[in-house]
Amino acid sequence: MFKGTDIKPFSKKVWLASPTMHGEELKYVTEAYETNWMSTVGENINEVEKIAAKKAEVKYAVGLSACTAALHLCVKLAGERLYGKPAISHGAVEGKCVFCSDMTFGATLNPVVYEGGIPIFIDTGRDSWNMDPVALEKAFEMYPDVKLVINAELYGFPGRMDEIKRICEKHGALLIEDAAEAMGATIDGKQCGSFGDYSAISYNGNKIITGSSGGCLLTNSLEDANKTRKWSTQSRENAAWYQHEEVGYNYRMSNVIAGVIRGQYEYLEEHIDQKKKVYERYAEGLKGLPIKMNPIMEGTEPNYWLSAMIIDEEAMCKQVRGECDVAYVKEAGKTCPTEILEAISSINAEGRPIWKPMHMQPMYRMHEVVGRDGSLRCRTNAYIAGGCEDVGADIFQHGVCLPSDNKMTAEEQDTVIAVIRGCFE
Ligand SMILES: *Cc1c(COP(=O)(O)O)cnc(C)c1O
Repeated sequence: MFKGTDIKPFSKKVWLASPTMHGEELKYVTEAYETNWMSTVGENINEVEKIAAKKAEVKYAVGLSACTAALHLCVKLAGERLYGKPAISHGAVEGKCVFCSDMTFGATLNPVVYEGGIPIFIDTGRDSWNMDPVALEKAFEMYPDVKLVINAELYGFPGRMDEIKRICEKHGALLIEDAAEAMGATIDGKQCGSFGDYSAISYNGNKIITGSSGGCLLTNSLEDANKTRKWSTQSRENAAWYQHEEVGYNYRMSNVIAGVIRGQYEYLEEHIDQKKKVYERYAEGLKGLPIKMNPIMEGTEPNYWLSAMIIDEEAMCKQVRGECDVAYVKEAGKTCPTEILEAISSINAEGRPIWKPMHMQPMYRMHEVVGRDGSLRCRTNAYIAGGCEDVGADIFQHGVCLPSDNKMTAEEQDTVIAVIRGCFE
């Protein structure tokens, strides 16, 4: 029972985002099994690469074990193009600063660290919840030597990636687009995943379509696609024996997993449709509360992967977060993300705080983070001067990801909405 109401917990858990299978997947997996293409070669991989490239409006897609692997090879390709071939193996961006999304999942920029680079974080736009183009311009002003930017679309609600791309071009920098959360979303009708010099998409189990795992690197360069294929299959040279001139990786997609992904692509639009309905039901059901949902930027069409909301400051009760723990003080008429998450969890549904910004993560605490007015690491002084607001920290403090599973029924969602409303009483 939820707090003196007659709301009972769901007998079956309502997830944040879980896989949705349809049957076609099994057909392609069975084909792989029966023809014994149970490896990293086969028809399913070829088909997934064709479909992924076509869908994302790029020339080439290379099937890999995960989006993280794709991002790693994106960084290697960009590093080679910018700085030349690193000595034999790692260090494609050794000692170089790279501008990165701040409000994202760590996998977006961990590959920069794999390759010896130094992430510099770009603050988030209040209007977009994505990388702030004004802050990016400021960062180029402060660090004119930076030649690489990695930008992710948050929760499938794109910011103006095209504007970010233009700023990169102006400064002679390359753009890696992490479209892991944004497959099928568009900006001015152009697919997410088509804006980067190199882009990556994900088929992780919680994404809009899934292979259980998997990802693709997207590019318009045949040479880069071929390099990616070679590196991802242990960098074998063309010889009768195992001949190696470069370090290799075991990053290729499995033909079995590709079977699942191949079946899933037929349902991408349906999943987007369902996710859109979830978002719209929240927007309607939470109307009148002191909250804001994910912003939809003009000219963009999200894939609505995760519905999220931030609570207005006036309606926030006291909430204090340590590194791994949190406490809050309940106040009548007010609430906070922690209380809402507890309430959601008490009815057997899954929510989550908004992604904790990278510049607040212990491992990146010494790294630069740039807002509209310059470095946020000089905050104390900046406060005195006025300005220098940390938008990412603010969205994190106020934000909640809501149960957004495409299989959640309208009735279940009404219950979630009622429980959220209860927190504001
Ligand atoms: C899920 C996700 C990734 C990682 O994808 P995997 O396929 O699990 O490696 C990278 N970036 C973002 C923004 C993600 O949400």
